[in-house]
Amino acid sequence: MGTRKKVHTFVRVKPTDDFAHEMIKYGDDNKSIDIHLKKDTRRGVVNNQQTDWSFKLDGVLHNASQDLVYETVAKDVVAQALDGYNGTIMCYGQTGAGKTYTMTGTTENYKHRGILPRALQQVFRMIEERPTHAITVRVSYLEIYNESLFDLLSTLPYVGPSVTPMTIVENPQGVFIKGLSVHLTSQEEDAFSLLFEGETNRIIASHTMNKNSSRSHCIFTIYVEAHSRTLSDEKYITSKINLVDLAGSERLGKSGSEGRVLKEATYINKSLSFLEQAIIALGDQKREHIPFRQCKLTHALKDSLGGNCNMVLLTNIYGEAAQLEETLSSLRFASRMKLVTTEPAINEKYDAERMVKNLEKELALLKQELAIHDSLANRTLVNYDPMDEIQIAEINSQVRRYLEGTLDEIDIINLRQIQEVFNQFRVVLSQQEQEVESALRRKYTLIDKNDFAAISAVQKAGLVDVDGHLVGEPDGQGFGLGVTPFSAKPGKKSKSKKTFKEQLRPSTPPPKPVAFEDFKNERGSEINRIFKENKSILNERRKRASETTQRINAIKREMDVTKEALNFQKSLREKQGEYENKGLMIIDEEEFLLILKLKDLKKQYRTEYQDLRDLRAEIQYCQHLVDQCRHRLLTEFDIWYNESFFIPEDLQVALKPGGSIRPGMVPVSRIMSLGEDAQDKFSQLQQVLLPEGPDSVAFYNAKVKTEQKHNYLKTMMGLQQAHRK
Ligand code: ADP
Ligand code: MG
Repeated sequence: MGTRKKVHTFVRVKPTDDFAHEMIKYGDDNKSIDIHLKKDTRRGVVNNQQTDWSFKLDGVLHNASQDLVYETVAKDVVAQALDGYNGTIMCYGQTGAGKTYTMTGTTENYKHRGILPRALQQVFRMIEERPTHAITVRVSYLEIYNESLFDLLSTLPYVGPSVTPMTIVENPQGVFIKGLSVHLTSQEEDAFSLLFEGETNRIIASHTMNKNSSRSHCIFTIYVEAHSRTLSDEKYITSKINLVDLAGSERLGKSGSEGRVLKEATYINKSLSFLEQAIIALGDQKREHIPFRQCKLTHALKDSLGGNCNMVLLTNIYGEAAQLEETLSSLRFASRMKLVTTEPAINEKYDAERMVKNLEKELALLKQELAIHDSLANRTLVNYDPMDEIQIAEINSQVRRYLEGTLDEIDIINLRQIQEVFNQFRVVLSQQEQEVESALRRKYTLIDKNDFAAISAVQKAGLVDVDGHLVGEPDGQGFGLGVTPFSAKPGKKSKSKKTFKEQLRPSTPPPKPVAFEDFKNERGSEINRIFKENKSILNERRKRASETTQRINAIKREMDVTKEALNFQKSLREKQGEYENKGLMIIDEEEFLLILKLKDLKKQYRTEYQDLRDLRAEIQYCQHLVDQCRHRLLTEFDIWYNESFFIPEDLQVALKPGGSIRPGMVPVSRIMSLGEDAQDKFSQLQQVLLPEGPDSVAFYNAKVKTEQKHNYLKTMMGLQQAHRK
């Protein structure tokens, strides 16, 4: 890949008794051909200024057997197709020069078979040599005559003639011809039958449809798809080998052709010159647009011309003096093609299903690896599955507590958890931003600072002083307002502000902690009650979880002791010699009792462990509720506090529900630690130390869930009522 290759060009000279020795000479390396023209022989026809031409090619095949032609021209292209490279071999030349002989050969004589049957043979031989791959072979045979498409294999009984005309379709996988039958062949013989079927149809068509077979382009395509048989490889390759027998390249006769012949000639000349244009454009790395769609031939071959495929052009010429004009024209075409470079690339595709399977396998392996790693590092079993809502809620609560200062640190468990912690930081931050903004909106009327009309209206109403300060703004601790000062002079602070303040707030508000106690007995009593209720449920569950943990640890210790005793008994028995009775082991009573005891302990352990898991799920859920209640309590308190102590009385009317202004809260300076007392902290610590099973998370009891949900709904209703009061 990545290396640029030239289009390989070869010349095959049709054997003749009348070879023009004086005119056609081959180079010693068999890679060049020189043409010498006697000036007087064909005067006026060929440019009479030039009498000598020299063409450099990749090989000249003179008197070459079909075998040698295949070896030289096609073998490598076919071989590379099995590695995923598309390949195209085309025969170009005037009618009768040997294109069909080269491509198909004679169907009667095996020895004279052409490139098509040999290519099929090589493909099947190579498949046999590659047992590691499952390779499928398909073939199609297309004829293009006067810009119409014909399926040379449509006569097969299982295909049938197509109703709609064939069309060339492009998709990301490449170009294909809609309506063209493509035949799966599992062995050489089947493939040959298809080839012969096509050849027969070509000949029949030339009689029944009155079309000259040398006037059409024929494309025989071999499609290869190779999957590795080793399951792990999700890559697979596809390739196409196009074997193209082009229509005769001869120029239109000078003697004024007409009708059908003229039409044919026009189509052929056009399509061959479009073919040349497309190939040359492909070789030009600066060219972005390649004119593939100009004719059916180039369009059908779009993904198999130049570009990323191996390309061979074989030019068939006559060796006789009488045909020299066409020979020259064909050789010119060949030498132009030789300049074109291509960049063959493998057509690699991915089997999505296999890929997913492989990734799943890999994932499972890595999880195992992690588990081993954890156990070696003496970490309690860590869960690496994606988090559910409850776990996320728990992290959110941790983050909030951390920000409040009621949680000293957040333990690192795994990468996923760390990422979620950061994520929740962002969530909390954006919520707080919103809170602050809505608080501002509730407390102040925000005015667009460019809306001077609105500003002056507000000024008139006396809500804003001349400097743009909002009336009632607390000194030095006010929030940024949506109004910029009109006056640029900072020294000109308002004198009226102070007086306002003094007038509106004659007494200083009580300290927040004191006010909070009042609030809890007053408007906040209902929410506070629910908060306390949930907290006590939470504490009770934590206590139970802690007790269960202690029991589990005790059972575990006892299990260890019992196991040890059992092992001792066993070794004793082995030393003393064993008793067997009809194949049954005889053990003494002591050992028997130990076994029973261990069994019993294991059962207990399992039950307790299950209880613990249930409890932990409940705790997570309760914690979430408690956090929500706490948040609500603080928010409501702040609203209440502002309403009660900061808002001027004459504004209270506007603040009534439905009024134009809503009071807001000062951002919660989280002074109150409503949360954890010593008992809380202790039981949390207990929890962290709990042994965890890999599936300990994410489970919670439906009953508890319903119960807690009920509680939560009650909280919300209580809040709404409190608000209405
Ligand atoms: P084209 O397809 O270019 O019109 P054909 O392949 O039909 O030409 O060749 C015309 C005739 O010449 C056929 O009868 C073919 O068998 C014969 N012929 C062409 N090339 C050779 C060759 N290299 N050796 C023997 N016979 C040939
Ligand atoms: Mg032919």
